[in-house]
Amino acid sequence: MGILEVKGVNKRFGGLQALGDVNLDIAEKSVHAIIGPNGAGKSTLLNVLVGKLIPDTGSVTFQGQSVLGRTPFQINQLGISRVFQTPEIFTDLSVLENMLIPCFAKRDGSFRLHAVESIESEKSIIEKAEAMLEEVNMAAKRDMIAGSLSRGDKRRLEMAMCLVQEPKLLLLDEPTAGMARADTNNTIDLLKQIHASRDITMVIIEHDMHVVFSLAQRITVLAQGTPLVEDIPENIKGHPKVKEAYLGE
Ligand code: ADP
Ligand code: MG
Repeated sequence: MGILEVKGVNKRFGGLQALGDVNLDIAEKSVHAIIGPNGAGKSTLLNVLVGKLIPDTGSVTFQGQSVLGRTPFQINQLGISRVFQTPEIFTDLSVLENMLIPCFAKRDGSFRLHAVESIESEKSIIEKAEAMLEEVNMAAKRDMIAGSLSRGDKRRLEMAMCLVQEPKLLLLDEPTAGMARADTNNTIDLLKQIHASRDITMVIIEHDMHVVFSLAQRITVLAQGTPLVEDIPENIKGHPKVKEAYLGE
């Protein structure tokens, strides 16, 4: 049994079947990529996993617990974090202040920033946030206003905000979208290092095949809302069904 199981998930938007009978089994501690042409239903699937969308039918189970019927915040508290396609950070706050918000949110299940019992625990939270910034190479930028960061740094900050919560499952929606090749390669290296250094499962939605083949241990190809093939990367390359799905892209 995997850490995340999706069974018979269907989602319609009016007359459009965005997801049709999706079944997925994500192995614990793996890096699993979900690829597919534009409009295949990748973001819709991710929104179902984090509770932003409720499927019409089917089940989603994380570590044996049902995800459906929980709010996005409750799902986050279960140990699922998500890096968005467009970074969701607080642009008017400093880099360090951005880091403190998820630290406190994780702490007591609320967003009360005054919930620190002692100076000692506040100090340890700041140290934790700073160590995480160090890990994503952002320590020197801790006092910068987040809105003024480069696109790559905004993504690194968002990733650090997710990781500081110590999620068991990290969902990444096109983590390198809009990045130049050098920054993409830096992100690949960072994700490899993050995966190697902790007990974490990663699900990556990605359009860039270079990223997918550099990171994933398993790949699911989604086409028109339905998984077409699932296999190891070597078997996905050149798969006739995959080529067919991408024709006309
Ligand atoms: P992908 O991320 O693979 O590009 P999406 O999951 O964003 O695909 O979209 C799948 C399909 O569902 C597309 O045809 C898209 O236009 C449609 N869709 C997505 N979200 C909505 C929505 N909120 N309302 C109506 N249609 C939607
Ligand atoms: Mg998308």
